[in-house]
Amino acid sequence: MEPIGFNRPYLTGKELERIADAAARLHLSGNGHYTRYCQAFFEQHYGIHKTLLTSSCTDALEMCALLLDIQPGDEVIIPSFTFVSTANAFALRGARIIMADSMQEHPNLDVKAIEALISPRTKAVVAMHYAGMACDMPALNELARRYGFDVVEDAAQGVDASLQGKALGSWGRLGAFSFHETKNLIAGEGGMLCVNDADLVRRAEIIWEKGTNRAAFYRGEVDKYNWVALGSSFLASELTAAFLSAQLDEKASIQALRFKVWNAYHSRLAPLAAQGRISLLQPMQGAVHNAAMFCMVCPNNKTRNALMEHLRSQGIQAVFHYLPLHKSPYFNNLHDGRSLPNADFYAGNILRLPFFCELSETQIERICNAVYQFFGQWA
Ligand SMILES: *Cc1c(COP(=O)(O)O)cnc(C)c1O
Repeated sequence: MEPIGFNRPYLTGKELERIADAAARLHLSGNGHYTRYCQAFFEQHYGIHKTLLTSSCTDALEMCALLLDIQPGDEVIIPSFTFVSTANAFALRGARIIMADSMQEHPNLDVKAIEALISPRTKAVVAMHYAGMACDMPALNELARRYGFDVVEDAAQGVDASLQGKALGSWGRLGAFSFHETKNLIAGEGGMLCVNDADLVRRAEIIWEKGTNRAAFYRGEVDKYNWVALGSSFLASELTAAFLSAQLDEKASIQALRFKVWNAYHSRLAPLAAQGRISLLQPMQGAVHNAAMFCMVCPNNKTRNALMEHLRSQGIQAVFHYLPLHKSPYFNNLHDGRSLPNADFYAGNILRLPFFCELSETQIERICNAVYQFFGQWA
């Protein structure tokens, strides 16, 4: 039988036209027509004060660490159950990373457990919205006000998702999106910094443009540009922006395709969840997710691994993630030793099923039948 891969980037068909147009405009580096097009799209659709297109979400997170002026010894609280970039961006500035646990009922950061981790050195808490399902941002922002730290959203998976009608990426002082080919809207590699504090916009542009005030120079606000702060080359090229613009124009149809796949999985697997054989993730009250992925939670690690192997034997590529960062080879010795049972639980038990726009009904049926077959045999 035809193998079913885990991911397949979706092309709208307009990407190459847009790249050709970007080339014809003879502005191929960053911060040109298509960069502004993409940035305006996010600012207008998602109520984000200012956005800057970057080469990756990882870059956007590194910009957050520079913007918040993270210094060696500052503490940054992040979930252990996340992608490594959430941690690296701050560790690169010398921050002491404090790993927090997930909630029991969801892999997202347990905001209630954060308070015990706050110290006078806490500079920031990074919330990662797993599977495009919102963290408890009102509670986190309330803690931030009370204790005076900054909130950063790793919204790599959160494009087009919301909480209480407010888009993810617009809740924190800063946020970051990803347009990596595994995400909802893609540009190959690409990302975006979200700045929701007007006071940080000027410095964000400087950090973005290699520590220079070139953006202000282009607007005619200064008559020469100069090295004015630390920065790097975080901008994406116009070719990336042009590609992304085609995806943004088709956002509604891309999301409709993803929801069709998500809903088909959900309705087929809900009975298995109702029997208590697996569980399915639920967004918190008031949150609308974005069909970033479909994952099921197995009762234990042995079952998860056996199911993954069973699917593999039928040519179906299902994957797991994340290996919890507090137990990673790099961080293991830097961690303070607290056990983070919920992060361990999700790392051990989550299985992500193949998920992409063009996954057909027949393929979804085949995958779900294989899952049911496994649980029948496993009984
Ligand atoms: C994909 C992802 C990233 C990294 O995005 P890049 O654009 O590849 O740098 C960071 N954090 C999370 C949670 C992700 O899912």
